Amino acid sequence: MPKKTRKTTQKELARYQAHCEEWLPVFGLTDWRIDYDTSDIGSNFGRACFDRENRIASFFLTDTVIPEAEISFDVEETAIHELLHLSFSDLNISDRDCETLVRRIAYALAYAEKKGKAGEE
Ligand SMILES: [Zn+2]
Repeated sequence: MPKKTRKTTQKELARYQAHCEEWLPVFGLTDWRIDYDTSDIGSNFGRACFDRENRIASFFLTDTVIPEAEISFDVEETAIHELLHLSFSDLNISDRDCETLVRRIAYALAYAEKKGKAGEE
């Protein structure tokens, strides 16, 4: 029997928010006011909608996870990814270049973080 699509849990949303809040000062983004929720955002794991002038943002985490995406669904990396979008929103770079840059850096930071945590144990 094929595995079923599942809903994102409240615990995952809480982890997403906690991780964003942990990294906000690291990225120097403490002047932003952010709210968090789950949403239907297509095939993306996360999305950041923001008003740069007023420093207000809504961070979304996907509301459903399809079985094929389960292995790559990483709440912590998604949090870092969306924070990088916020961080780069003040720079004048194209959306495509920004996405490439964000993906590379988020992957690297999440990798380093996991490695660091594994080393602590
Ligand atoms: Zn992105």
